[in-house]
Amino acid sequence: MKTPALLALALGAMATGLRGAPDPNWIDHDRDRPMAAVIDPGTASTQDAPGRPPSDATVLFDGKDVSQWVGLDGSPTKWIVHDGALECVPGSGYVRTLQSFGDCQLHVEWAAPTPPHGVSQDRGNSGVFFGVDRYETQVLDSYESKTYADGAAAAVYGQYAPLVNAARPPGVWQTYDIIWTAPRFDAEGKLVSKARETLIHNGVLVQNNVELTGPTGWINRVPYKAHPERMPISFQDHGHPVRYRNVWVRELGSPRHREFMLPEAVLDSYAGSFGHGKWNAVVIGRLPDGLLSLTLSGQELVMHADSMTHFYALSTDVQCEFSDGGKGLTVTVGQDTEPMKLEHQEKAPNP
Ligand code: MG
Repeated sequence: MKTPALLALALGAMATGLRGAPDPNWIDHDRDRPMAAVIDPGTASTQDAPGRPPSDATVLFDGKDVSQWVGLDGSPTKWIVHDGALECVPGSGYVRTLQSFGDCQLHVEWAAPTPPHGVSQDRGNSGVFFGVDRYETQVLDSYESKTYADGAAAAVYGQYAPLVNAARPPGVWQTYDIIWTAPRFDAEGKLVSKARETLIHNGVLVQNNVELTGPTGWINRVPYKAHPERMPISFQDHGHPVRYRNVWVRELGSPRHREFMLPEAVLDSYAGSFGHGKWNAVVIGRLPDGLLSLTLSGQELVMHADSMTHFYALSTDVQCEFSDGGKGLTVTVGQDTEPMKLEHQEKAPNP
């Protein structure tokens, strides 16, 4: 039998966190712990009308325009907006968001073409990709239509079949609610943690926190290769006029700068030498995945875009702003220094 003294000791141990607090920043029922932010959760869609996204979501497609979407290289997309839906134009290529996202909740509604054409993979095929074109959640007309299990609608393509087939008929709106955890890589490009996905198809859990083996591929198991944590989301052009509507995303984790993968042509216009001399010169270079390098006094930094003209480094507070279509560059280091205003140097003429 416990004595009061022992009981007091036990309670004290619990209060000091020995039993393992769920969040080490707060004790249980902490009066100073802030309440969760209040948001409007929005409304559900019906077949006739899309619902209203949660108030803290980034709306990617609201039925009106494609301003958030570009082709894979950042050029204007050829997909069309028709009857409130974003529709794939076969042969026009993937469509991707201009903005990049890491861990997130993604809501997508899609409808396979009606009347249906083709069989198996050649029937209402598209896909929702994370990591630009690396990780595909299959979109396919799987209603009373047979294909291989790990290529059906709601499959993590080639890796995980859905737990059940919750497909609706072609032409009928279907929902995907995806919880995505991006893979992590260390500074040397080594995989630290794999991507994970939970998927709810038409309100039914079909992928339960599955761990991706790497990028998805056809008859091929592709290994992970390092890429930025945040990357655009894409829809696949697989030759079928699949339609999308009411697309929104909520970024998870700590709020940070927004991040964009700018068009290749814009990034090209920013690359080159700016300024002169030892201390007043910067070299901007192209890196994969829409990133730029900024070399200043022999130090090379990786720069991420948070607008069409402004970039920032993740590792140190160096920021830069391109002006006049890439002819001018302003670099700031922290808050204390004078901005460096530099001009783009003419490229040496070809010999
Ligand atoms: Mg597909």
